[in-house]
Amino acid sequence: MAEQMCAVVYLGPEQIELRSLPVPEPKEGELLVRVRAALTCGTDVKTYRRGHPKFPPPFVFGHEFGGDVVAVGEGVNAFREGMRVTANVFAECGECFYCQREQGNLCANLVYNFGAFAEYMIIPASIVRRTTFEIPAHIAYAEAALLEPLVTVVHGWHKAAVQPGETVAIIGAGGPISLLFIQLLLHNGAGQVIAIGHSSSRLAVAKELGATQVINAKKTDTITAIREWTRGYGADVVIECAGTKSSWETSVEVVRRGGRVLWFGGLPGGTKVEVDAARVHYGEIDLLNMHGGTAAEAHEAFDLIVSGGVKAAPLLSGEVPLEQVESALKRMIAGEAVKLVVLP
Ligand SMILES: [Zn+2]
Ligand SMILES: [Zn+2]
Repeated sequence: MAEQMCAVVYLGPEQIELRSLPVPEPKEGELLVRVRAALTCGTDVKTYRRGHPKFPPPFVFGHEFGGDVVAVGEGVNAFREGMRVTANVFAECGECFYCQREQGNLCANLVYNFGAFAEYMIIPASIVRRTTFEIPAHIAYAEAALLEPLVTVVHGWHKAAVQPGETVAIIGAGGPISLLFIQLLLHNGAGQVIAIGHSSSRLAVAKELGATQVINAKKTDTITAIREWTRGYGADVVIECAGTKSSWETSVEVVRRGGRVLWFGGLPGGTKVEVDAARVHYGEIDLLNMHGGTAAEAHEAFDLIVSGGVKAAPLLSGEVPLEQVESALKRMIAGEAVKLVVLP
């Protein structure tokens, strides 16, 4: 009989369970990894609350991790037992219509990788080939585990094409994505970063990371505050990270004429958003959208972690064992934690 492991299984909205499952065996091209640290993520929270449109339960939960390779499938040459690794949650095929156009994030054959809230997990072959990385000795497992959210932030940053000296407003600030954006933007010479959020404690982290101005939307009117802070013009770039209809709409109100809005936070299918067509058209406002990131951006993101261009520590609010994944997600929902490190 195969060896058993503990794993957190997702069964449906607000239903997760710690179960004993057989340790999987790596097939051709795959890696078996002993998970050393995994991170809770906004996507886990969304899935916990309302399910995931693409992935029917049950499945082993969690997707951000760092660990040790303990077994290698046939044909794998780049990795061997004992290596410390992390991997992105998805990899593109490299061949389809979208991949041929360097839009691998939209790949028709994207392969996903779940199962990080467990003692062991498999990394699928195409992810091993394209978006798995050896962690250097000076980077902790939990720091390397930040790869996947950072890939999406790097993709968003490319999309928004933020220029040195520009003023960027981040709506929905305080969550991990916004804290990564703040670091990436300032690292690359953004002039000012205005962070708008709802939680004073989380906004304090944004301030610590260098946000020029933090605005608590509970206490101040966002539109008035941003206009005041930008001498009435509005921000050059607005990045929407809250994923609500109202913040999508607000973002169009606080961007300057000729500026760009990046809608980062996805909304459920069927949601209709209202924008003032004249404001957008005659004001030449670019409305940008994004989802995921490419394999090339995964390499860029990993380099940022290794070089210290982006720091993980301010995003990590504490450690929990596997048994406490559910309460960890509840702490995130309550705004008490940015990300928690799960130690299997
Ligand atoms: Zn994630
Ligand atoms: Zn493809």
